[in-house]
Amino acid sequence: MPDNFYSLETGKPFTHCCACDCQLSEAGMHIINKSYVAGECIFELAMCIECREDMNAQLSEESRVAIFDFMHDHTDMDQREQELGTDSNTEAYLQSCITCGTDAHGLTNYSTGAMFSHTTLVKGPFPMLICSACEEKLGETISDETRDVWDKFIGEHFPGPPSEIELPNGNKPLLM
Ligand SMILES: [Zn+2]
Ligand SMILES: [Zn+2]
Repeated sequence: MPDNFYSLETGKPFTHCCACDCQLSEAGMHIINKSYVAGECIFELAMCIECREDMNAQLSEESRVAIFDFMHDHTDMDQREQELGTDSNTEAYLQSCITCGTDAHGLTNYSTGAMFSHTTLVKGPFPMLICSACEEKLGETISDETRDVWDKFIGEHFPGPPSEIELPNGNKPLLM
């Protein structure tokens, strides 16, 4: 597992789902999200695919379509697949913002997402990186209802200071 998807808190791979506390090594798939501000990781989570799907199911249809459309309109997935396939270096998937193409080396504010099968990084659309400007634009396309689902989720699963995390634009990370 590449280091950059290790838990910053423990310095090791994530072990449990943040929502249902299942063992990720036994879960079929899981997703890891991290958000960086000023180059520092301010938020990280690991979630099993079942919890992720449960959460997606709570989002309004309208927002799900808006998120899909945004990604579809701004990302050439076919080209990405041709260039990267499923076996490039992890860094190659994270070298630029997935939606605007800005070189990640110049970025200090961004979020990353990766999908794992047990302890193996699954390569394809993931891993991905999105810059804060695009995350903000994406945030504008989703409904308040969906925003509430995210905020409530983060509040419930990250009690205490982490749930007060806000990006510079005042929103919570979007968990791509
Ligand atoms: Zn779970
Ligand atoms: Zn971008």
